[in-house]
Amino acid sequence: MADIAYHCGEEEMLDPSGLAALQRRKLAAMWPVVLASNAFYRSKLASIDFDPAADSLQKLPFTTRAELERDQAQHPPYGTNLTRPLADYVRLHQTSGSGGGAPMRWLDTADNWLWWKRLWGIIFAAAGVTRQDRMFFPFSFGPFVGFWAAFESAVALGNLSLSGGGMTTPARLRFMLENACTVVCCTPTYALRMAEVAAAEGIDLPASPVGKLVVAGEPGGSIPATRQRIEQAWGARVYDHTGMTEIGALGFECEQAPGGVHLIESECIAEVIDPASGKPVVDGEQGELVLTNLGRRDSPLIRYRTNDQVRVTRGRRCACGRWFARMEGGILGRIDDMVVVRGNNIFPASLEAIIRRFDAVAEFRIQVMEDATSLTRLQVEVEAANGTDTTQLTRQVARAIQDALNFRADVRAVAAGSLPRFDMKATRFIRTTRRT
Ligand SMILES: [Zn+2]
Repeated sequence: MADIAYHCGEEEMLDPSGLAALQRRKLAAMWPVVLASNAFYRSKLASIDFDPAADSLQKLPFTTRAELERDQAQHPPYGTNLTRPLADYVRLHQTSGSGGGAPMRWLDTADNWLWWKRLWGIIFAAAGVTRQDRMFFPFSFGPFVGFWAAFESAVALGNLSLSGGGMTTPARLRFMLENACTVVCCTPTYALRMAEVAAAEGIDLPASPVGKLVVAGEPGGSIPATRQRIEQAWGARVYDHTGMTEIGALGFECEQAPGGVHLIESECIAEVIDPASGKPVVDGEQGELVLTNLGRRDSPLIRYRTNDQVRVTRGRRCACGRWFARMEGGILGRIDDMVVVRGNNIFPASLEAIIRRFDAVAEFRIQVMEDATSLTRLQVEVEAANGTDTTQLTRQVARAIQDALNFRADVRAVAAGSLPRFDMKATRFIRTTRRT
C-alpha cells in the first residue's frame, strides 16, 4: 500500500470511465479475500452469483446498520465482520450511538488504519494544507473516531499537530495562539463556541494565523448561514468533511469549488437510492447515500446504507481537476431525523439554515412534538445576544421559518447563557413522540 503523502495522485484525476475501471479492479481484488475469510459477508453473499469485475452492484443486497448491530449483539463484542484473526486488529472505535441505538464497535487492522490516514492525505491536500501548517485539534480524543485518523495522518505527513484535550475553551484558545496554529479541526458547533469565547475574552480571531477550519460531525460546514458565521468570526475558510466510524473518511471539500463535498471515488463506490424503494435515483435528485469502501477490507462495508440524505451530481470535471461525485450542500440530514410538518419534509439542517441567518441568535434548540392523534408541533427556543429586542427577534425568526417552510413554528426567547454549549457534536434537535 502507498505511503501517506499530501496527495493529488493519478487515481484522483481519472475520468469517469477510468474511475469505474479502477473501482472494479479494487472490488475484484477485495472480493475473494472477503468471501474466503469474513464470516459476516460470506453468509450474506456466498450464495449470490456475482462477478465483481463486471456485474452490476445492484445484484448484491444492502448492508444496514441494524444488521451490523444485530450481528454484534449475537456475536459480542465485535460481531463477525472481520476478515482477519482478531489478534491482527490494532484499533477500536465506536459510534456515539446516535439515534438511540447501542454504540457500534469497529475494529481496524494496521493496513485499514493506513488507508484511513491516506484518505486524510487526500482531504488535507484538497484543502490546500501543506507541511508548513500547524494543526490544532481542540478537544479530547475518546473512543469516537472523529479526527483520530486526521491527527495521526497530519503527524505522518510531517505537520506539527497539537491536541487540546483536557483544557477549557479559553485555555485552548491561548494554546492555539501561543503555538501559532494555522489549521483547526473540530465540529462546526465548537468552531462557533470558540469564537463566542474568544469574543468574550477580547481575542481577535481574524488577526490570528488560523487560515483554515476543517469541520465535521454535523452538517453545519455546508449550511451557508452557519458556515458564513464561522468564516466571519475566524477570518478563515471553512472546509466541510464527512466521514463515519463504520465507513471511513470519504468526503471532502476542495479549495476551488466550495459549497459541495466530493466523495473519494478512487476509494469507494457511491450510489444514491430512494430510501423507500431501494431503487437508484437520477443524478441531481435527493436520496440516501449508499457506500462500498474499497480499501478497508479487514472490516469492509458493501452497499452500506448510510442513512444520509444527499443530492449528488456527477459527470462534471470540477475546477480542482477531479471528476469525483459531489454532494451538493454536503449531507442534508440523517434520514432518521426527518420530520414531516404540515406535509413538508424537514431536516434539522433546514431549520438551522434559517435560524443561523440571524446574528442576534447566539444559540438555539428545536423541540419536535409528535403526537399520534394531532399534527406535529415544532417549538424553537432562541437565545438572544445581549441587548437584543427579543420580541422582535422571535417574530422575525418565526416569519422566516414560515416564508421558507410554509408552517408556523412556536418561537420563544430564553435567557442568555441558558442553552447548553458543546465541545463536540451538539444536541439541538429534540424529538418527543407521544402515542396516546
Ligand atoms: Zn473539486
